[in-house]
Amino acid sequence: MSAAVLQAHPVELATPRLSHWEASLTGVSYVQERTASTPGPEVLVTALVHGNEYSGAIALEAFLRSGLQPRRGRITAVFCNVAAFARFDPGQPDASRFVDEDFNRVWSPARLEGPQDNAELRRAREIRPFVDRATHLLDLHSMHEPCAPLLVTGLLPRNIAFARSLGMAGQVVADAGHADGVRMRDYGAFGEEGSSRLALLLEAGQHWDPASLRHARDVLMRFLVAAGVVERSDLPSGWLLPDSAPPVPVLVTDRVVARSMDFAFTQDFRGGETIRRAGTVIARDGGDAVCTPYDDCVLVMPSVRQLRPGVTTVRLGRRLPQPGAVEHASLE
Ligand SMILES: [Zn+2]
Repeated sequence: MSAAVLQAHPVELATPRLSHWEASLTGVSYVQERTASTPGPEVLVTALVHGNEYSGAIALEAFLRSGLQPRRGRITAVFCNVAAFARFDPGQPDASRFVDEDFNRVWSPARLEGPQDNAELRRAREIRPFVDRATHLLDLHSMHEPCAPLLVTGLLPRNIAFARSLGMAGQVVADAGHADGVRMRDYGAFGEEGSSRLALLLEAGQHWDPASLRHARDVLMRFLVAAGVVERSDLPSGWLLPDSAPPVPVLVTDRVVARSMDFAFTQDFRGGETIRRAGTVIARDGGDAVCTPYDDCVLVMPSVRQLRPGVTTVRLGRRLPQPGAVEHASLE
């Protein structure tokens, strides 16, 4: 399907009202803490890193309203790019992803401490102390296209193992991040081998699909239990989806980058498909065939919704034979 004939996805989730959470004892707006009297993990859950991806914000808001308290440690809930979210318009639902630049590409000391100033950098600088102290980070996102949920782990085995242990339905995807800037989940110690800090990014499903909210809620609850701040028996009823067996992680090895506006997949891929034979044509780009580079190639997050030359249209990956095999796999 080419970009020219794409219909906008229906906005089936109402935007959440977040003004109740603006005032904060922390001194930083839209940052809320729930603290136990017993010390323990510092769990940070973030939503609205992208302003139009609000299923995670609905889940986080519902958590704050639920009264669920940590038994130990602290849970910090942050609505990140509220300035972009405030601009959300159901008539132009993709337009409010950010104000000045992608909030999820600024997480390097060079950018955070540099001379530049814009809406996303200002907000990232406000939130940074909460990210610095977190032992566990769950960053809630959603996707342009209808797609099974997936957890993005980075390349470190500890994050891959933690993602698999959650028992959520969906893919576990190990990738090296983005060349055009550092994501929050790759920031600082989250990306260091010697650290024990854990960070996962959830892509819950299509942005405004009610199923994405169910997956965001489910993974949020699983994450809090796995981090050790609450017990499974503490969770509000109906928030967990059925348990799944740990998925085989997929290591992203390649990205398909559009070279023209005349890019189209050969099928209506939804992500998670395994293409058996190397050399199978999966798309055409300006008349050229785009082929899979190896046997049993897994498609991750295919989308032509943001199509323009230079944009990633799909990631390609291979299933890891065992979760600790990342260091032996070849990367792009
Ligand atoms: Zn996102």
